[in-house]
Amino acid sequence: MTRDIFRLVLVGLLVLTFYGCGPASLDKAMSRLDNRPDWHRHGKLDLPRHPAEKHLQGWLIVLDPGHGGEAHKKGYKRGPTGVREADMNWRVAKLLERLLVDAGAHVTLTRHGDEFVGLKERAEIANNLQRPDGGTGADLFISLHHNASSRESANFSSVWYHGEADWSEPSLDVAKYIAHRLGAQMRTNVAHTSPLMSDQLMYGGGFGVLRQCNVPALLCESSFFSNKAEEQRLRDADYNLREAYAIYLGMCEYAYGGRPTQTLPTVERDGVTLRISTVLDDGLDKEWWGHERDRTLRSTISVCLDGVRLASQYDAASKTVTADLEPGRVSGDGQAPHVITIHHANKFKHHNYPQRYRLTPDSGPQGAYQVTPLGPERAEPQS
Ligand SMILES: [Zn+2]
Repeated sequence: MTRDIFRLVLVGLLVLTFYGCGPASLDKAMSRLDNRPDWHRHGKLDLPRHPAEKHLQGWLIVLDPGHGGEAHKKGYKRGPTGVREADMNWRVAKLLERLLVDAGAHVTLTRHGDEFVGLKERAEIANNLQRPDGGTGADLFISLHHNASSRESANFSSVWYHGEADWSEPSLDVAKYIAHRLGAQMRTNVAHTSPLMSDQLMYGGGFGVLRQCNVPALLCESSFFSNKAEEQRLRDADYNLREAYAIYLGMCEYAYGGRPTQTLPTVERDGVTLRISTVLDDGLDKEWWGHERDRTLRSTISVCLDGVRLASQYDAASKTVTADLEPGRVSGDGQAPHVITIHHANKFKHHNYPQRYRLTPDSGPQGAYQVTPLGPERAEPQS
């Protein structure tokens, strides 16, 4: 009996020594840094559900697998051995759709197979999406592409936004999480500059599909199919899953930091002045252990009329922003409608959406003003 117990303890000790159970020593942890693996080596495919995916519940997402319907065009958007970009974009879209639907988001694809869909048509799917609250427009449009270069070695991940950084704040907020996750999951190189790029670097009018979206929109160029080794990886649906998972992780991380918004601004007469007023929502969960703290960065709060900043006040208790303007500034003089711009960001530096409203003076005796939300600012199309 004693001998059996002794034998059991001995086996236990051997197992512990062999498998290294128990806390690791500092030396052991330090030794892991002696021969660090190369960045480009992929680890095993590991796809845990991100606990923050619950914050994606109810989102309306449009996924746009780039290209399609051009298989008959010789060499069109193909890698060195003929792998088509349209096909890899499609596989990533289908895998990402599954990940997002599992998270409780509503996903719409802009194409349903290998068919041609015009750029405007793709954008319109996002613009015209019916919302449960009766409104229209998706929460986010993501176009999925892969890049090509005459420089065969090029292989980095980039995420593109439309026009000026100032026009695309909510899109950039999501894009930065996705860009970092793409690089980390796909083990691509880094670009010469940051992985967030304006589509006006490429064309004066930007990318047609982003320019024509009236909702937050971004376009992933996840890696380069013109790179021989990368082209072979991109044929493999398991590698496409790595990419889809990277975008999913980026979206979960973004969603966890909240999407700020505000109530539809009201414009009311207060004596001779007009008062614009709105209540801010930082987009974060309301529950705060009974100790409500303000989570809006005050330095980010601004109200502009036609691009000119107005003096504004913020009442943290009611989260109300008010700004006054003289009635002459918005008289019904038959000129183009005025645009009010409202900006604020929460402590994650996530920016509000929508940011722009059309202010239409009503010529009636009450002197009322109509306020209607506008999409993000867009560049003029160029020929
Ligand atoms: Zn493309």
